[in-house]
Order: sequence, then C-alpha cells, then structure tokens
Amino acid sequence: MHLVDHPLVQDTLLVLRNDRTDAAVFRRMATRISVLLAAEALRDLPTVPVTVTTPMGEACGRKIGADVVVVPVLRAGLGMLDAVLELLPTARVGHIGVQRDEITAIASQYYSKLPAGLGNSYVLMIDPMLATGGSAVAGLDLLKRAGAREVRIVCIVAAPEGIALVEREFPEVHIYTPVVDQGLNARKFIVPGLGDFGDRLYGTL
Ligand code: URA
Repeated sequence: MHLVDHPLVQDTLLVLRNDRTDAAVFRRMATRISVLLAAEALRDLPTVPVTVTTPMGEACGRKIGADVVVVPVLRAGLGMLDAVLELLPTARVGHIGVQRDEITAIASQYYSKLPAGLGNSYVLMIDPMLATGGSAVAGLDLLKRAGAREVRIVCIVAAPEGIALVEREFPEVHIYTPVVDQGLNARKFIVPGLGDFGDRLYGTL
C-alpha cells in the first residue's frame, strides 16, 4: 500500500470530503486528485530513449515504453478516467461493472469488457472508494482471469477493511491511496469518507 501524501493531493481530498462541495466542483476535484494519484502509481513505468530535434539541436529524452490499460470500476471509477487519459491519451480502456447490494454490501459483477493482451500491459484499476474491498477483489479476479499480471489499484479514500482484504487475496497488487480512514459504518460506507462518490459525482443523491 502506498500512501500518497503530496500536499496537492491532501488539499484536493479535503474539498471532495466537504459535504458543501457541489457536483461541478466535485467532478473537477475528482479529476485533479486522480491526475496526481495516477502519476504516482505510474512512477515506475518503463521508458525508452528517444532523440528529438529542438530548434537548437538534438536532445535526448525518454518516452513511455509500455502498454497501459486503465480499468474504471463502474460507475464511480468513471470519475477518474479522464484524468488518466489526460496523462496517457493512447491508453486502452477496459470496463468492469461491479454492483454492491444496498443491504448486504456483497459485490457482484454485472459487466466486463476488457482489451486483449493484458498480460503484457500495466493495468491501472481505478475505483475511488476502497471500502469492504469486495468490488476490488471481484475486479482483480476478473483482471487476473483475463491474464493481467501487473495490476495497480488507485483509489481516493480507503478503509482498513478493504486494504486488508485486497492484501490477503492479491498480495502482489499495489494500492495507491491518499488516506486510510477509520473504518466502515453499518451500511459499509467509509467513515468519515466522503459519502457516496457516484451519487456526488452524478448528482443522484
Ligand atoms: N462507496 C462509496 O461511494 N462510498 C463509500 O463510503 C463506500 C463505498
């Protein structure tokens, strides 16, 4: 688990947490924090040396040398997708639909469309709220069965319960989060968390 402690991340998280933040600002802040988190989660992406010609001569540099697949977990994960595509416009995108029962909070998969060749890609699964870990584990299970080997999770708020479950089921998966909150309430919402991320993003409260 990687705690992303950057001041810009922490400042943005506070705006997301605030219940007075409206949907328009919430969306902008979700994108801002996701850019910063994704950059951190992709810090070790392989690069290849390249030379370009500047107006003044030759300059050596490095460009991304790996295939990246970003996988939002529907629906809240979509709020983080633009941010990753802003950084990596050519990334391929898979979608996973995992729904949690309102009463039991048990996650079940209802949709999956993943690009081929995941075994050679860096896969970034994006899901803002790592609560029970049920959705994350269901998503990781799908990705692994589809051949993914190098998978990272990026979330915006995590609960200890969710981290523990992912670490138990998929110890090799790295989790990037700005914070680990106190825990879950009886309805399996993260406390203090930020409420229902999807509802706040889409105004469906
Ligand atoms: N999903 C959310 O949107 N919020 C939580 O607190 C937990 C799961």
